[in-house]
Amino acid sequence: AEERERYRERTPNSAEMAGDLRELVPAGVCSTFRAFEPHPMHAERAEGTSIHDVDGTEYLDFALNNGTQLVGHTHPELSEAAIEQIGEGTLYTRPSRLIEYAAEPLIERWDAIDQVRFTNSGTESVMHATRLARAYTGREKIIRMEGAYHGAHDPALVSSMPPLEKAGAATDPNAVKESQGIPDGVPEDILLAHYNDADSVERLLREHATEVAAILVEPACLNLGLVEPENGFLQRLRELADEYNVVLLFDEVKTGVKLAPGGGAEYYGVQPDLVALAKAIGGGYPVGAFGGRRELMELIEADLREGVATGMAHYGTYNGNPLALRAVGVTLREILDSAAYDHVTRLAERLAEGYRDVIEDAGLDAQVKTAGSQGIIHFTDEPIRTFRDWEHVDETLHEAYWVGMVNRGVVPHPHDASQQWTLSVQHTAEEVDDHVAAFADVADGIAA
Ligand code: PLP
Repeated sequence: AEERERYRERTPNSAEMAGDLRELVPAGVCSTFRAFEPHPMHAERAEGTSIHDVDGTEYLDFALNNGTQLVGHTHPELSEAAIEQIGEGTLYTRPSRLIEYAAEPLIERWDAIDQVRFTNSGTESVMHATRLARAYTGREKIIRMEGAYHGAHDPALVSSMPPLEKAGAATDPNAVKESQGIPDGVPEDILLAHYNDADSVERLLREHATEVAAILVEPACLNLGLVEPENGFLQRLRELADEYNVVLLFDEVKTGVKLAPGGGAEYYGVQPDLVALAKAIGGGYPVGAFGGRRELMELIEADLREGVATGMAHYGTYNGNPLALRAVGVTLREILDSAAYDHVTRLAERLAEGYRDVIEDAGLDAQVKTAGSQGIIHFTDEPIRTFRDWEHVDETLHEAYWVGMVNRGVVPHPHDASQQWTLSVQHTAEEVDDHVAAFADVADGIAA
């Protein structure tokens, strides 16, 4: 409560702006996740590793727009290229050389990607990849992990973060609609399994063998903090997909290019059939992509008969727009080289070590995880292997920690306990040490 009061005192202009904006847009925000009580910190501008709010405070930023900016804000090379591109046109709605410029690095990074199509968001990438899996198999049901977020389209808002009391028995999750307006038929095609429990996937495949189009999974759950695959979970999914002839679809919207150059597929050594991408591939410009084996991607037909695609339809005015393609190409070819990965991984490990020392000194019941450029603190001693383990996380303590950090000028990660920090190519060891020092101060307060 004390940290919350301090937050209010530090952010009067944000409070006023929140009031004004609530009149214009529901909840005063443009994506419901961004709503925050008493009010979100409102941004004035961002540059490098900093975000400035409308009260004139500069924050060290490790949230980086839900991890989208592995390159940091306003990366000079990216900004320069974008400005040049604006001068050459931001939309052509026709093919250009920039497709090659953006597609090649994705095809090089993922063994599973022979061909790729560009979209404008992670939601679109998952949606189109799912449709492709259905088109390829001629089946409709999708096996998904309970508690995993895959975007804002109807089927993705089924049991992405269901209230535990509605989720059903531990061995048999019920599909829970998480928005009004989703038709009743939608959950029927979603079969829910448990992350890190290959047997739960196998049970569903056995029961619905001829109905399942795809297994959709994030290689590591980055909307449950940072939950990594254990005991060959992804390898087992690969085997099951082959055995039952279903498509293995990795949602790498968050893991892609952030755990390793070739995402979770490379990091954990398992290649899917299809990959959905967005976020960090574009360095902060709105873009997504989905790609996979040629055999599947070739189903996306260009041959129109009476306006109806003969294969799988994939349309979009802004798909592959030159600004987005330029951003992808510069980000992946010019900025995210092997030295960049060494840098962000070293810093992520330094931050995790710093946190672990503070946790031990303060005697907190908490654990820290890190993978690639990502990391998280979970306020619990219990292992978090799957969505159901989330009940152990002390979200009240997490919020006190988050607000405490913001009051000390550090945004450690997006405000929710389910989100993680990102170390960017622009962060320095000194900034990591400042982050740890702020945490030490907060930890003393919350341990007391
Ligand atoms: N998939 C995952 C794993 C995500 O984390 C997100 C967004 O956070 C999405 C899909 C949707 O991406 P977007 O917000 O770009 O539509």
